[in-house]
Amino acid sequence: MSDAAYWGPFAAARELRGLQLTESPPYEGFSAEVMSTIVRSDGDLPDYVALAQRCGDPVLELGCGTGRVLLALARGGCRVVGIERSADMLAILRTRLTELPEDAQARVELVEGDATTMALGRAFPLILLPASSIVVFAEFEERRRLLQAAAAHLAPGGTFVFDYVRFSPAGVASCDEQIVSMQIPVEGAIATAYLGMKFSPDGTELLVNAYCQVPRCEDQVEHHLEAKRLTLIGDDELDYLLDESGLVLTRLTSEALPGGVGERRLVCATARTGVRYPLWHPYVPMNTLPDNLLTLTSGNGCRVWADDGSEYIDASGGLWSTQCGLGHPDIVEAVNRQLKRLSYGTLFAHRGNEPALKLARELVEMAPSPLQWVYLTNSGSESVELAIKLARLHAAVTGQPDRKQIAYLDESYHGTFFGSMAVTGLYPQKEAFGPLLPGVVPVATPSPSRRPPGVSYETFALECATDLERRIEEASGQVAAFILEPVLGSAGVIVPPKEYLMAVQRICRAHGVLLVLDEVATGFGRTGLWFAAEHFGMRPDMMLLAKGICSGYLPLGAVLFSGEIATSLIDRGVGIGHGSSHNGNPVCCAAALETIAVMRRERLVERAAEMGGYFRARLEKLRRHDRVSDVRSLGLMLGLELRGNDGARAPAQDLAAVYLGLQRRGVLGYPAPSGLLFLPALVITRQEVNAVVDALDDALSSLPPVVVPVTAAEEQRP
Ligand code: PLP
Repeated sequence: MSDAAYWGPFAAARELRGLQLTESPPYEGFSAEVMSTIVRSDGDLPDYVALAQRCGDPVLELGCGTGRVLLALARGGCRVVGIERSADMLAILRTRLTELPEDAQARVELVEGDATTMALGRAFPLILLPASSIVVFAEFEERRRLLQAAAAHLAPGGTFVFDYVRFSPAGVASCDEQIVSMQIPVEGAIATAYLGMKFSPDGTELLVNAYCQVPRCEDQVEHHLEAKRLTLIGDDELDYLLDESGLVLTRLTSEALPGGVGERRLVCATARTGVRYPLWHPYVPMNTLPDNLLTLTSGNGCRVWADDGSEYIDASGGLWSTQCGLGHPDIVEAVNRQLKRLSYGTLFAHRGNEPALKLARELVEMAPSPLQWVYLTNSGSESVELAIKLARLHAAVTGQPDRKQIAYLDESYHGTFFGSMAVTGLYPQKEAFGPLLPGVVPVATPSPSRRPPGVSYETFALECATDLERRIEEASGQVAAFILEPVLGSAGVIVPPKEYLMAVQRICRAHGVLLVLDEVATGFGRTGLWFAAEHFGMRPDMMLLAKGICSGYLPLGAVLFSGEIATSLIDRGVGIGHGSSHNGNPVCCAAALETIAVMRRERLVERAAEMGGYFRARLEKLRRHDRVSDVRSLGLMLGLELRGNDGARAPAQDLAAVYLGLQRRGVLGYPAPSGLLFLPALVITRQEVNAVVDALDDALSSLPPVVVPVTAAEEQRP
């Protein structure tokens, strides 16, 4: 190929100036049509103003050039920040800006800088990269930095948009051989530039030849001649870059370009969750997280502080666990001491450790009879898992191999592992996780909301106990255990009547069914006694603990079980096939031992009873809001039930409004299926209780009132 053919119209300039080009792949054909799709007129802009109205402003435009998009946005009423690295372009833009009305000018902020390395320290609801030329001319590394910079400046839930041209090999092949000339500003002068482009036959690569004449003083003209081979952005690269930048493609639209050159594509993406947030939260649909995320950074007693400096009274005690309050110096010190002494220990392989044994002795001392043995776990869910295994194992070794079934209340919450999930009534995703643990039997919950009209709560609850008996009899000797929370927490603090709990205890005894009390939430002083079982005089065969056992300082749980169960195994030389690396961890046990010591020293159990009474009395006064349908409590375990404005069960949006309204007023409660729960640290003060109830009072006032009369059924409530 001759040099002239090889270099096309640039050959003359090259001849003339004797300039060296760095690269020269021999593609044929310059594309004027392609060039004209890149250098487009204002009329072809996507409707960025409408987009900004939907997404919110200020809009950040990356590489705003001479302001084609930016000016349209400002004229359309949007606030816009433009970033541009070329001082020449910005000078032109500033001049064009003065042609806008003053209010539109005031909406514009210009930043001279490199969009690929910017750190503006602000987040934007909409970021635009509308310059298709940037995407075309930039190379992989630059495109990567641009997308990452965009992602880092995107507000939670914000939108990132860029449009670019995707060339079609067929269209490219049909393009004429032409050069485009244009006037461009270069260091204050207006230069004449000639651009020619050659595509690789498959349309994925582009050779750009640029020849630029820059006028200098005294009729001098500077000549620049450059050739660059670029790899165009392709679908795979786009996917990769979006993914790597933490952006998720939400919409991709394309519009065919004239002459079959290719298509113009508009890509909308949003940050994966907020800004680069790879942390998955339990239960929360992650698309809802950015709007409501509260990141806590410090805490003391009942108070917590978030990363934006806001302060809250945590009336939910974390997840109902922080009995002694956050940052208690004695517990911190005890944990530190143990970390220095023996930071790890296992109970596998005949090894023991002092704190684990000491804790087991303390727990047995405190627990109601006949509980004499302790198996340490890492969580409430694990305690439930083990209780199910232990009930089945006990049945197996005592010659009752058919006793496999576990009865549970249909509004219970016992955790999220396979066994604990199976015996949890309030579990939204059971089917998706199936097949579940077989051999579980749901039993009617004595839930006040299910009480038929005209029947007292006690009578209704006893009918629920009869349901248990019926289920046990129907299973003809196959039920191994009945698990229940003495006060149902997640269902909305349901405090069953003593008669009910006595009845279920009697029924279990009569049918040889082990009674498993789940005191994960109710234990450790929460209800005003060490264990809720004591309120009702219950004597369970197993009692399950976690949460408050070490005041939430470290993961720990326990299964306490009777001498009879233990003996059935010991006598037969049978061990319990259960355990994991942290069962009996001495540091967790040290936190629990100090929790017990602090609770005794500071009389926190008595305090829970007293403060629970005070809290309850204050909540009762909120019944004057017609949206409050019930107040229930035992000690510092309190629940407020709400009704909707049609008098029926409160809809999810009302519950969310009160929960978030409370949060905006500096209080963290805990959401329940039909209201709110309060299980604060037992160190909560009267002033803090007052602040919580005042905030709640205020949040409830913002709900529209009930518009239909309260139903007759509810008025009959005893
Ligand atoms: N049991 C009850 C009564 C609970 O309230 C909970 C947790 O809220 C669990 C078990 C599960 O405990 P964990 O979250 O420690 O697994």
